[in-house]
Amino acid sequence: MFNIAIDGPSASGKSSIAKGLAKRLNLIHIDTGAMYRTIAFACLREGVSLDNEHYCTKVAESSAISFDVNGNVFLNGEDVSEKIRHDKISQAASIVSQHSDVREILVKKQQEMANEKGFVMDGRDITSVVLPDAELKIYQTADVTVRAERRYKQFLEQGLSVEFDDILEDLIARDYRDMNRDNSPLIKVDDAFEIDTTFLSVNEVIDLVINQLESRNIK
Ligand code: C5P
Repeated sequence: MFNIAIDGPSASGKSSIAKGLAKRLNLIHIDTGAMYRTIAFACLREGVSLDNEHYCTKVAESSAISFDVNGNVFLNGEDVSEKIRHDKISQAASIVSQHSDVREILVKKQQEMANEKGFVMDGRDITSVVLPDAELKIYQTADVTVRAERRYKQFLEQGLSVEFDDILEDLIARDYRDMNRDNSPLIKVDDAFEIDTTFLSVNEVIDLVINQLESRNIK
């Protein structure tokens, strides 16, 4: 068995690819972004300032995060899958994720979850910090305007009224924070296979990843 680690900027389609790969290859998908989102959601609900590392860490320590087989996310047993998808939570997650102590707690949880093989995990520090020994490492990118268009379409499909320019601005701000933070910034590690998904469909990307597994004889 093997693990696949996927990193890349916001809305580059990592979760869709990871989900599709999990289905095709019978792996378990762990969306680590959902974990940072859940902590951000818990902080906001408890009225904790996102900039306060001490209190955010307390929240992270006391939050039990779990997933079910369908990828739903639970905070202390409560299904928060939809609540954590709001744009406000996206920004909040990227602020909370700058705190080293919060990261330490979540990284430990992620490593425990995937301590056997058979996982596809996506995030920002999976190839570099969480699963540096993964058999296949992917760095997934896409043009920022295309990423904003994809996100915009998703929001419209959900019946949400959003402005394209706001989404684009938010993505740029989040990319900047994620790539420039002191602790575990988003980077492309040397041995990651880079896929630019700007002009590719989800299935085309999945096929590319499967080709990589086959050509590297990873089973
Ligand atoms: O992947 P997603 O957009 O849901 O992640 C939300 C935020 O959580 C990211 O913008 C990033 O700041 C943070 N994150 C992280 N490390 C991860 C996954 C997500 O810092 N492994």
